[in-house]
Amino acid sequence: MQELNCGVLIIGGGPGGYVCAIRAGQLGLDVVLVEQDRPGGTCLTVGCIPSKALIHAAGEYERIATAAKAPVAGIGSLGATLDFAQTQGWKDEVVAKLTTGVTGLLRKAKVRVIKGQAAVRDGKSVVVTTADGEQMITCEHLVLATGSVPAELAHLPFGGDILSSTDALALAELPGSLAVVGGGYIGLELGTAFAKLGVLVTVVEAGPRILPAWDADLTAPVLRRLEKLGVRVMTGAQAGAFSEGSLQVRQGDQTIGIAAEKVLVTVGRRPRAQSAGLAALQLAMDGPFIGVDSQCRTSMSGVYAIGDVTGEPMLAHRAMAQGEALAERLAGKGTPWDHRAMPAVCFTDPEIVSLGLLPEAAKAAHGEVRIANFPFAANGKALAEEDIAGFVRVVSDAQGREILGIQAVGCGVSELAAGFALALEMGATLADVAATIHAHPTRGEAFHEATLMALGKGLHL
Ligand code: FAD
Ligand code: NAD
Repeated sequence: MQELNCGVLIIGGGPGGYVCAIRAGQLGLDVVLVEQDRPGGTCLTVGCIPSKALIHAAGEYERIATAAKAPVAGIGSLGATLDFAQTQGWKDEVVAKLTTGVTGLLRKAKVRVIKGQAAVRDGKSVVVTTADGEQMITCEHLVLATGSVPAELAHLPFGGDILSSTDALALAELPGSLAVVGGGYIGLELGTAFAKLGVLVTVVEAGPRILPAWDADLTAPVLRRLEKLGVRVMTGAQAGAFSEGSLQVRQGDQTIGIAAEKVLVTVGRRPRAQSAGLAALQLAMDGPFIGVDSQCRTSMSGVYAIGDVTGEPMLAHRAMAQGEALAERLAGKGTPWDHRAMPAVCFTDPEIVSLGLLPEAAKAAHGEVRIANFPFAANGKALAEEDIAGFVRVVSDAQGREILGIQAVGCGVSELAAGFALALEMGATLADVAATIHAHPTRGEAFHEATLMALGKGLHL
C-alpha cells in the first residue's frame, strides 16, 4: 500500500471541504483533499447549481409559452419549444464549468487532490481506495466534510419510478405527471420547475402548509403561484404506497389515489456521519449529526467536522463559511465563529429570503416587537417589471432600534439577501438602514421603506 503524509487531510470535496482546502492551501498548509466523485460535492454536481440551472431554464420556457397565450406589455410569442435533452445537456455544461473551475482553484492553492473513497482508520490515518489500489494517508489534522444524502422513506425506497433529487435532476425525459412528497426547499424548487416545463405536479406535504418552517404570510405568494401553475398542493397529507402509477395519500380521514408517472421524495437529507469508517471513531453525536463546538472541533482531538455532516441549516454557504474559518484556525489565524446572519433563500417563484428571527420567534424571545411590511405592489421597479407579488418585512425590538429579523418574498429577492445579511451582521439599527440611500428604482427600496415604516416614517405607502 502506498503511503502519504500531510498536515491537513480533508475528506469530502463539497463546499465545506473544497473551501477549507483552498484557504488552508493559500495559508501555506500542506493539504490533501480526498473526494470519491467530482470536486464540488452535492452543491455543484447534484444540488444548488444544477437545480438553479433547471429553475432558470423552466422559467424562460414558461415565460415564452405564457406570452403566446397572453402578451405582456404588447409582447407576445408564437409559442415555446422545448428540447429537454438539450436543456439537460446545457445544465450539465454549467456544472462541468464550475467543477473544472474548482479543480483549477485547488491546484492553484497547491492542494493535492486524491480521487477515491476514504475510510477512516483512526483520528490520524485514513485508507483511500483509488482506481490504482489502496493508499494510506496519515495527517496531523483530520477534517470530516462528508456532507449528506437524500433521506428515503421506508415505503418509498429510491429506484425505478421513485426519484431522489439527484434522480430528478438527471431525468432524460419529462414525465407527464409527478407527485412530490415533501413541500420543503427541494420539493417546491424542483416541483415548480417541472410544473413550468408542463409536468402535472402534485405536492404532498405532511405539515400544515408548504415550507412549514416559515410563516403563512411569507409562503402565501408561493402557494398562489403554484396554484396558478396548476400544481395541486395537499397539506396535512401523508404519502403511502405507490403502485401502478398511483400514490396513496392519506389526508385527514380520507385516502386518495394520486395519478403520477413518477414520485419525487424530498423529505430532507441525512448526514453522512456513519459511513467512511466514521462510526468506529465513536465521536460524540448531535442527533444524527457529528457533534462540533463553535470551532468545528469534534470530541476527538485533532479531528474536525464541517458542513452538512455537522447539522442544520444544511446550506452551502454555511459549509463554506465553516470551511474557511476552520482553515484559518488550523493555520493559527483563527477568529471565533461569531455570526449573526445566516441567510436562507428558497428559489421558488416568487423567491423567499429569511434572516434572523421570524415574527413569532421574535415575540417568543423578546415579548413585544415591531413588524413592518412593505409590499412590492407599492414599489416602482416591481410595477415596471409587471411582478408585484410579495413584500419585504423587518422585525425589530419594541423600541424600534435593533433589527431582529428580515424576510422577503418576491421576484428576484434572492439578490436582496446580501444587503439584508450585511445589515444584520453589522448590527445595523432601523435608523441606519433608513438613513442609507437606496438606488431608485430597485426592489431594494422596499427594504428601506420597511425600516421607514417601522420608524413610523413611511413615504410611499
Ligand atoms: P456535500 O456537498 O454533500 O459534499 C460532501 C462530499 O464528500 C461529496 O462530494 C462526497 O462525494 C464526498 N464524500 C463523502 N464521503 C466520502 C468518502 N468516504 N470518501 C471520499 N469522498 C467522500 N444549499 C444552498 O445553500 N443553496 C441552494 O440553493 C441549495 N440547493 C440545493 C439543491 C438540491 C437539489 C440539494 C440536494 C441541495 C441543495 N443545497 C443548497 C444544499 C447544499 O448542496 C449542501 O448544503 C452543501 O452541498 C453541503 O456541503 P458539504 O461540503 O457539507 O457536503
Ligand atoms: P426540507 O427539510 O426543506 O423539506 C422537507 C419537507 O418534507 C418538510 O416540509 C417536511 O414537513 C416534509 N415531510 C417530511 N416527511 C414527510 C412525509 N413523510 N410526507 C410528506 N411530507 C413530509 O428538505 P428537502 O426539501 O429535502 O431539502 C433538504 C435540505 O437541502 C434543506 O433542508 C436545505 O437545507 C437544503 N436545500 C437548500 C436549498 C436552498 O438553500 N435554496 C435548496 C434545496 C435544498
